[in-house]
Amino acid sequence: MVSGKEYVASVFEKVKEQNAHEEEFLQAVEEVFQSLVPVFDKYPKYVEENLLERLVEPERIVSFRVPWVDDKGQVQVNRGYRVQFSSAIGPYKGGLRFHPSVNQSIVKFLGFEQIFKNSLTGQPIGGGKGGSNFDPKGKSDLEVMRFTQSFMTELQKHIGPDTDVPAGDIGVGGREIGYMFGQYKRLNGYENGVLTGKGLTYGGSLARTEATGYGTVYFAEQMLKARGEDFTGKTAIVSGSGNVAIYATEKLHELGAKVIAVSDSSGYIYHGDGIDLDLLKELKEVKRARISEYVETHPDAVFTRAGDSSIWSLKADLAFPCATQNELNEEDAKTLVANGVIAVAEGANMPSTLKAIDVFHEAGVSFGPAKAANAGGVAVSALEMAQNSGRTAWSFEEVDEKLKGIMKDIYDNSAAAAKEFDAEGNLVVGSNIAGFLKVAEAMSAQGVV
Ligand code: GLU
Repeated sequence: MVSGKEYVASVFEKVKEQNAHEEEFLQAVEEVFQSLVPVFDKYPKYVEENLLERLVEPERIVSFRVPWVDDKGQVQVNRGYRVQFSSAIGPYKGGLRFHPSVNQSIVKFLGFEQIFKNSLTGQPIGGGKGGSNFDPKGKSDLEVMRFTQSFMTELQKHIGPDTDVPAGDIGVGGREIGYMFGQYKRLNGYENGVLTGKGLTYGGSLARTEATGYGTVYFAEQMLKARGEDFTGKTAIVSGSGNVAIYATEKLHELGAKVIAVSDSSGYIYHGDGIDLDLLKELKEVKRARISEYVETHPDAVFTRAGDSSIWSLKADLAFPCATQNELNEEDAKTLVANGVIAVAEGANMPSTLKAIDVFHEAGVSFGPAKAANAGGVAVSALEMAQNSGRTAWSFEEVDEKLKGIMKDIYDNSAAAAKEFDAEGNLVVGSNIAGFLKVAEAMSAQGVV
């Protein structure tokens, strides 16, 4: 009988061979695989069933052409993707990302993470992800509409309320979901459960917009509680200024912390008095402006251009990477530790590199990995699906209460799994194992499919 270590290593070798150029995907796989070694020692049945090799191969990947016409009348072509990774515990579920960096490696890493994240929510949702290398930045509303309509014209063949339910991610917010929902409806008739993150007038859920950011903070609250701490008087750095960063900032302020910095791809703002959230919302949600404009209203704040120095060079008690993958590296982690950070919770997907995570663990920093800490968004998406199926709508308070409960459960289950598998306090190991076990049991029960 091979050991857990040998089994995991042999599957990882194959994965590397077959996906040699998919750096981000291999990074996400490596992190999960390292955690799962003791699981295969405990459950040799899963080795016999070759469960890991089956799980790491997506059930299906769709890649397609997205032609559209820009405002100058020029024909443009982008590439669209949907990776339907695992339906072991429910319909494929996960967002769509519109960003020039999107390629197969990115959608596969996101889809793979989504399997475990969705399992951790306790909701019946499988893992999927998609998107396009389309860049919404600088495009007119009409260009975004024409692109998303073309994107959905192909995607609609592959999705449905009981099979695959996309939502938003970077570059896909309320506007894009609205256009996609309209196009889906035009082609298939009204089916309100086919997308989540919808507007409130056509089947969206209250608190879905806030859910990822709020959820990350609720998760961090549990991390702090385990150290005998809370948010009162703590300073925080929140990278990004999209949906996740904005609502993480809102909740942090509400719970007594002070966010002193936020960023976008052009640079970061430091504001020692605390970030002016109304202004941030106005700039980002209404005007779609660059963050550098913040200093026009607050001359006491400082804007630093990207590349000049990193947002992680600032001193703070807490760090919330809420921008994008691999935005926080080993050097950044060392600087944060030297500056006295006590907890890091990931609002974005895979924002910390593997080496950065090691630095945090070695320094005794509480570290909340993305698939646990940012699961609140997709969890409330599952609640949106439930409301849609039940033809009902819950109040903001009701959804927010459920979200809080889900984040606490994710924390408790991850902490318990870490303890059970001899890695007490390591939430990376704990969340990977807790997320995996439910999927593994479902796969095992369903036979070799
Ligand atoms: N894109 C979000 C995530 O990374 C949300 C997905 C969803 O709501 O389906 O989990």
